[in-house]
Formats: sequence, structure tokens, C-alpha cells
Amino acid sequence: MSERYSRQIAFYGVGEEGQAKLRASRVVIVGMGALGTVTANNLARAGVGYLRLVDRDFVELSNLQRQVIYTEQDAAEALPKAEAAARHLREANSEIEIEPAVTDFNSSTAEALISDMDLVLDATDNFEARYLINETCHVLKKSWIYGGAIGSSGMTMNYIYGEDQPCFCCLAGPAAGGSGGPTCVTAGVLASATAIVSSYQCAEAIKYLTGNGDLRKTLLTFDLWENQFQEIEIIKDQDCPVCVHEEYTYYGKTQGMQAVSLCGRDAVQVIPEKTGDVDFERYAEKLGALGKVSCNDFTLDFDNGSIEIKLFKNGRAIIKHVDDESRAKSIYTEYIG
Ligand SMILES: [Zn+2]
Repeated sequence: MSERYSRQIAFYGVGEEGQAKLRASRVVIVGMGALGTVTANNLARAGVGYLRLVDRDFVELSNLQRQVIYTEQDAAEALPKAEAAARHLREANSEIEIEPAVTDFNSSTAEALISDMDLVLDATDNFEARYLINETCHVLKKSWIYGGAIGSSGMTMNYIYGEDQPCFCCLAGPAAGGSGGPTCVTAGVLASATAIVSSYQCAEAIKYLTGNGDLRKTLLTFDLWENQFQEIEIIKDQDCPVCVHEEYTYYGKTQGMQAVSLCGRDAVQVIPEKTGDVDFERYAEKLGALGKVSCNDFTLDFDNGSIEIKLFKNGRAIIKHVDDESRAKSIYTEYIG
């Protein structure tokens, strides 16, 4: 019996056989923020054999209150979250494979990020990404576990493919642009709330991957501050565009250069039509004449006093201090090409 997992193997729901199944499992975690860091930490230590960590962003000081695996040093270096998380988790468990995917999760990337995985864990912070996970999983016949938290409240639900259960679209209704609701920037969020959501997701993931235990079939919601806890039965929408009619709003829809305002960040993310390995040296030379340039293995930062660009290795960029998406696109075209 493996010493490392002895306490987990001793648990009746896992055992030697369950542990071996975890070892053979491949899980993708979409988003490495508050939920994703707790989930990745939990599943890496639990011995899930292959973890793909997806995140488009880099570590900042305001993350440290709840994004439990990052350090002040990560924030000082502004490391990409997926990369920083992979580094820390490899120190916790060197026996498993951890793949950092520093990329935006969108219609162009979703299929490749999910298709070779056994299970998808949602740790995103927006509805658009969840609709896309839902649609992509339905197309690829994959199961996924939804999780969300804001303020002191949280919720989670399983979507197990093939069980004729309600999907995320049955729950949330057909996709209809931004929700306009509160976000973690405006309403704040407690680390205790995100940790609970993530812990539920991980327990369900371990049930699913080991094939043991009864997966929860309800939507679970709670509010720690208001002392509320509820399980709600969700009815499958017999007219659901996704799981009944297989009509997709996000899956396979992206084309051309995209610009998306990053919620509450005073920044816009720009993704060029074609992504690929960017030659930082060439850009450092080109942009060095126009402003200050600094580089590490993952990002190139440009700052000329009014425009600030963080360019990632695959050509994606975050343009700071702009809120207008078309302005961001033109800055990208002007400076990056
Ligand atoms: Zn549905």
C-alpha cells in the first residue's frame, strides 16, 4: 500500500482499487483562481494521475487572500497562474503529471483542452465559459462539475453525460450575453465559501473517477453568512437547446481576432486570429524603441507610460488601462501586429 495515499486508501469509498483508478485518471481544471487552486491542490494530493490546469491570467496580490497555492513571490514575478500552480503542485506530488495550459478557454481552444480528459472541473468565474464547457462536454460526451461562489455563498451541480440529467443550460436558461449580476470584484468573496464549493466538487470528482459512492443529483447552494444550506432538484428542460436539441451558442463559433473586457480589471484581453509561439526577442527589439520592455519565459511586458501590454507566449495579450474592446484591438494591431 502506498504510504502517500494510506489515509485515503483506508477510507471505505476509495480503497486500493479506487486509488489505482485515480492514478489512471485525467482531469482538466478550467480556471486557476479561488476554486481552481483549491481543486488542483486537492486532486494533485489525492493522486489523480494527470491534471491539466487552464488559466489565461497571471498572479496578482489581490489573488492571495483566496487563491491558496500562490505566493507573494509569484505575484511579484507576475507568473502565469497555470505555470505557478504547476510548479507548486509538483513540489507537493512529483508522482503525477501536471500540465499547465496558459491559454484562454474559448470556442477555439475548448475542444482540444477537453477531448482527451475523463472529467472537467469548472473553476471559471463567468457564465459564458460555463455555457461553453456545457456545450463542449455535451458534444464530446464528457461529464463536468459546475461550481461557483460569490460573497459568502456558493453552488455546485454535477453534469454526468449519458444519465439523462439536466444540464447547465437546463439550470441557467439559454445563453444570453453578460448577466450584469454581481461579480467577485464588486461583491467580494470569502475564501471559506470558495473552499467549500471546491471541496464538494472534489468529493464528487473522486466518486466519479473511482466509480464508487452515489453522485449527487441536485443543485447544492449555501450561504455561510446567512446560515443557509439547500439542495434543489433541477428538472430537465424538455426543450433545452443543448442537451435536447443539440444547438450550440458557443461551441465551434469563434473566428477572427477577439477582444474581451476582463471583469473589473480595467483591462482587455486580445486574442489574435492565429495563435502560435511568439518570438519574444524580436518583439523586445521592436518594442524596446517605443517604451520599457521586460521579459521572462512566459510573458513580455511593455509600458510606454500610457499603454501597458502583457504579451503571452502564444500571442495572446492583456492590454491594461483600457475598457474599450475595439481600442484594445487597435492597440494590439499597432504594437504587436
Ligand atoms: Zn439541458
